[in-house]
Amino acid sequence: MRWGLIGASAIAENHMIPAMRHAHQEIAAVMSGTADRAAAFAAAQGIAKATSDLADLLGDPAIEAVYISSTNEKHFAQAMASIAAGKHVLCEKPLAMSLDEASEMVRAAEGAGLVFATNHHLRCSGSHRAIRGLIASGRIGRVLSLRLFHAVHLPESLRGWRLTDPGAGGGVIPDITVHDADVARFLLGEDPQTVVAQMCASGLGQGVEDSAMSVWTMPSGTMVQSHESFTHPFAGSGLEVHGTEGSIFARGVMTQRPVGEIELVTAAGREPVPFSAHYLYVQGIEEFAQAVAGKGHPAASGWDGVASLAVALAVREAARTGARQTVGYGEGA
Ligand code: NDP
Repeated sequence: MRWGLIGASAIAENHMIPAMRHAHQEIAAVMSGTADRAAAFAAAQGIAKATSDLADLLGDPAIEAVYISSTNEKHFAQAMASIAAGKHVLCEKPLAMSLDEASEMVRAAEGAGLVFATNHHLRCSGSHRAIRGLIASGRIGRVLSLRLFHAVHLPESLRGWRLTDPGAGGGVIPDITVHDADVARFLLGEDPQTVVAQMCASGLGQGVEDSAMSVWTMPSGTMVQSHESFTHPFAGSGLEVHGTEGSIFARGVMTQRPVGEIELVTAAGREPVPFSAHYLYVQGIEEFAQAVAGKGHPAASGWDGVASLAVALAVREAARTGARQTVGYGEGA
């Protein structure tokens, strides 16, 4: 499949371009807001065409799909233009700045008969799929609680708009809580119902939060505890799922790489849980390409992106107001 990249971003450079090429996809063009940056990015990445004009990229009939990885406030207009031009869309999270915009993007793609996916990479990982399988097979009985540890140390190279610009979608909640919302939905197969939360700036955020903690209730009664941060150098990431018949402990699994370890603890003792070490982003691209070919669905759909955004927005509102929020999924419910 032939792709156009919208946004000359770090995630495109470091993960998605290598993943697309690994999955035998062709990258035909890149669009950036500035012509010089587009040209430099294209030259560095070996991409034939560079442009600063979205219509120019979308006007190429050979481009079947676009990958949108601009800053968050640009996703909506770029996705809507891409859909109008008949392109399938893989869009970065958070899909948009508001639930209405995100829903409109997904609905437009549905109306046009196009594949629309959200780049929630964690549900593509072998570790998360193994944990989901354990839960679904009943190995830990009825799930009582899920704890998500996603407090990282933001690399110097990413310390830009994420830390300073609410207008571009900065802050740890739109950046990482959306991923954790998707993980909870993916592992537990249900949508968070209400949330309580606190947030703060703990050293890096300027005008946006760089740390958040929240507790979510699920329709089944399962409780979810979630911690995201940009300021924790040594915390490590992970998750725990506790059930009536067992517990799952996963360390180092909230990452972009196929790493980490999982242990299952039951009355029978402790056992390591094996999982596939395939590359997360390659898996996502392959499933997207299959969906475009009419075989299956993308790993995370557009509505999954709407739902993760709904949870993140509720967490921020709960933290801002100090009041419990009911998650409003809009049309994505
Ligand atoms: P970057 O800051 O690297 O890129 C975002 C935009 O900033 C680019 O599209 C580009 O604008 C502009 N830009 C970047 N570098 C420069 C520069 N040196 N000079 C001028 N402009 C620059 O962001 P990320 O790659 O970290 O994030 C992009 C999107 O991807 C976000 O939506 C984020 O949430 C998401 N993301 C998702 C991840 C995942 O695992 N799913 C991981 C990381 C990010 P222009 O569009 O004009 O080229």
